[in-house]
Amino acid sequence: MTPADRLAPALDAALERLAAAPRLLVALDFDGTLAPEVDDPLSARALPEAAVALEALRALPQTIVALVSGRSLESLAHVGQLPPDTPLVGSHGLEVRLGAGAPEPAVDAADRERVDTLRAALAPLVAAVDGAWIEDKPAGFAVHTRVVEQDAAAALQRDARERASSLDSRLTVRDGKNVVEFAVRDATKGDGLRILRERLGVDAVLFAGDDVTDEDALRTLGERDLGVKVGAAATVAEHRVADPAAMAAVLAELAVRRRGILSA
Ligand SMILES: [Mg+2]
Repeated sequence: MTPADRLAPALDAALERLAAAPRLLVALDFDGTLAPEVDDPLSARALPEAAVALEALRALPQTIVALVSGRSLESLAHVGQLPPDTPLVGSHGLEVRLGAGAPEPAVDAADRERVDTLRAALAPLVAAVDGAWIEDKPAGFAVHTRVVEQDAAAALQRDARERASSLDSRLTVRDGKNVVEFAVRDATKGDGLRILRERLGVDAVLFAGDDVTDEDALRTLGERDLGVKVGAAATVAEHRVADPAAMAAVLAELAVRRRGILSA
């Protein structure tokens, strides 16, 4: 680390304390935190110096590196390019993979049946509209109307919403641009991070993220943990760095200090 990007004193002290945790989880958002934002989501990659720092952390005993993202698990595994035993949280906490095995089921059998019933009821409405299609999601599905003529798209979205809410009053319904999404379960990155913390049995957590949805994870942190906001947006995190390059420097510094403590 060069003098120019020396750590702020408070972050320096927090890193020193965190480096000594008996069992440490380093859980990180991906886009905007490890990887610069790019136009094609599947071509995003962690900065080379971030990848090197993650590898250095992974090589240490009692040190777990995990990714926590809004991406689907599949997309996150693709862009993350980490070994298959890396714990991953996708879809803002709905999808969790603790290790190299299969992901945890996103919904239980009863909720799966709610999704299937709803999908079967809405599929004929969608099939009747030229260009509309259904995308399956971990806890529901999305009806896409991007290439549908405007009036037909509005009518389909309205009909689908009405049909859905008459069948299942507990649904979460989200309107997006040219898409309406139906889900039987809601989750946040905070839920995902809680699962990682409990199931991996760690003593302390470093979490870093750049986006609004990362705040849910930052809010779950306690006294022994360390939260870092990447970028200038408002945050509950106690510490802040400017960009993914500065975040990579923090991770590299953590690896150096933890190696020093563990080998002492
Ligand atoms: Mg991000």
